[in-house]
Amino acid sequence: MGPEPTVDVQRCIGCGACAILAPAVFAVVQRVRITRPPGTAAERAAVAAAALVCPTGAIGVGRG
Ligand code: SF4
Repeated sequence: MGPEPTVDVQRCIGCGACAILAPAVFAVVQRVRITRPPGTAAERAAVAAAALVCPTGAIGVGRG
């Protein structure tokens, strides 16, 4: 499975970038929420990309 992402809702500005990159994991309705943990290597890579592009650094990807 790997580490599960986290989101800091207070930092989210609702830009939607994470949901575009990883739509299975992130949903944005005004602000982001996690719908489920990433289940595949491709989804984990997409979550990592989302964390990199998030303009406010709201997405955390745990180490492990
Ligand atoms: S990329 Fe960051 S700021 Fe944009 S919706 Fe996702 S968590 Fe919020």
